[in-house]
Amino acid sequence: MSEQALDARGTLVSSDVRRRNLSIVATALAERGPLSRSEIAAATGLTAGAVTLLTSSLLDAGLIAESAEAEPTRRGRPKTRLLLSADHLALLVVQLDADTATALLASLAGETLARASRHHGRPLGNPDAVLDVLATVTNEALDEAERLGRTITDVTVIAFAPVGGEPAIVLADTDLLWGPVDLVAGLRRRTPRLPEARLVGDTTAAAREELAAHPGVRDLVYLKSNSGIGGALVVDGRVVLGSHGYAGALGHVAIDYDGEPCVCGQRGCLVTVAGPDLLLERAGLQHLLAEQGLTAALAAFVARLKAGESDASAAWKDAVPWIARTLRIVTMSFDPEIVVVGGFWADPQLTGAIADAFADGDLLMAGSSVLPPVVPSALGGDAAILGALRDARERLLEDPLALQIAQH
Ligand SMILES: [Zn+2]
Repeated sequence: MSEQALDARGTLVSSDVRRRNLSIVATALAERGPLSRSEIAAATGLTAGAVTLLTSSLLDAGLIAESAEAEPTRRGRPKTRLLLSADHLALLVVQLDADTATALLASLAGETLARASRHHGRPLGNPDAVLDVLATVTNEALDEAERLGRTITDVTVIAFAPVGGEPAIVLADTDLLWGPVDLVAGLRRRTPRLPEARLVGDTTAAAREELAAHPGVRDLVYLKSNSGIGGALVVDGRVVLGSHGYAGALGHVAIDYDGEPCVCGQRGCLVTVAGPDLLLERAGLQHLLAEQGLTAALAAFVARLKAGESDASAAWKDAVPWIARTLRIVTMSFDPEIVVVGGFWADPQLTGAIADAFADGDLLMAGSSVLPPVVPSALGGDAAILGALRDARERLLEDPLALQIAQH
């Protein structure tokens, strides 16, 4: 059934079509608003009668409002424009990162309303200690939502580890030395007022945002390092999760087959020959890691590398060929259009070194290079949070009236 099937009485069409049409109107307003009813009809191909019915449902639900700005008309009264309002609603993203727990409260438009962040100090093998810190920042964000009078309609928890299962749990975290941890259940036990939440891996969420940052791209490799090394594969516009949730865990590609044992049980994983712990140790920065945490230590490593300091430079020079070799394997596995490098490797000098090693000895097929460009991420440390917010907003726009349940 086409969108045109919604007649003026709105009675002859299925609820699925109605939901889809509501989503089309809400999405048009989110992307191009404010719009008048006739502008919505023109933008969506829906009939004027259908738009009147659909916008009145969305107005009743409080999801859209009349804008102060009207569409000027040549004759008569200017036409009222509508916009996505929903200023009684909020999205919550809680992120567990290498040494920090962050909770971010955002409007449906993605604007930050509140942000709480605390170091968890990387207590190895102790999920409860980390969950306590995660619960503290979550409570701060929930308090702020209450103070602002906003109902939280969507909660995403981001973990920097492979995620899988039903319900999704952290499968294992080699950086925090965790086995399987039900992060969402642990968080909700500590913060009973937290609504239902979904769990995603940080590289999955970040790759989603990288895809949006590269319009037209459908096949992408995301590779990043901050705590450990992680990645994500995007095939035909979708992040591949794999049958167990391990797809894209590029830090554990066993690249140096007879190399050192890895915590994952294999030998010579990429993380054992190019991981942050090795680089920091060789650069003599372990003390800074212990005293000030990973982010500060990695910033110092990059600064030393740029200053040409010999230990940091030698450590990086040894790591780069392994990174490039891993990318070659991934490239030949699914022929991506682009490789995006994130984390502290997104510094242009570091990404440049990876790109040079990757392109060294070009791969020629049909007389021309098939190697994709290797580019630094432009999204900074919040790539995963931005991706989670984008997904949350799309979920809401997909089924806008589901919000009524949360609202009333
Ligand atoms: Zn491993």
